[in-house]
Amino acid sequence: MGKNKSVHRKITWKCDMCESIQTSYSNKRWDMDVCKCGKSGYDLEEFYSRTMGKISIISEEEIQEENTIKLSENDSKIFIDSILNPEEPNEKLKKTFENYKIMKRSTEEEIKWKAFLYGSIVGILAGIGICGLIFLLEFI
Ligand SMILES: [Zn+2]
Repeated sequence: MGKNKSVHRKITWKCDMCESIQTSYSNKRWDMDVCKCGKSGYDLEEFYSRTMGKISIISEEEIQEENTIKLSENDSKIFIDSILNPEEPNEKLKKTFENYKIMKRSTEEEIKWKAFLYGSIVGILAGIGICGLIFLLEFI
């Protein structure tokens, strides 16, 4: 597995009305960064950007980073716990599984019954056919 590098943009901007300075990152999706007074905002995405109010761009940088999954200490603990001690299935899951087993069993029985029925019909027809043939042969 190769290391996957991603590039995203970081833009530092200032609201011309309240003069507060904000930073926006293109890797934060669907997120409009809003200034202190709430009148200006910058929605920076990978392929487009949208602004509202009055802003001035202070700086623009490209940031390269390796994609790694960073888990907090607590998340790691939950992750490892879930592997080491899988949780007991709850009542709903058990019931669903029971229903599935019942459904599966009845389907299997239906298939066996149909196979028996069709087998019998074919057997009877073959029997009639043979009898008919013997009957005919006696007349020749
Ligand atoms: Zn503002």
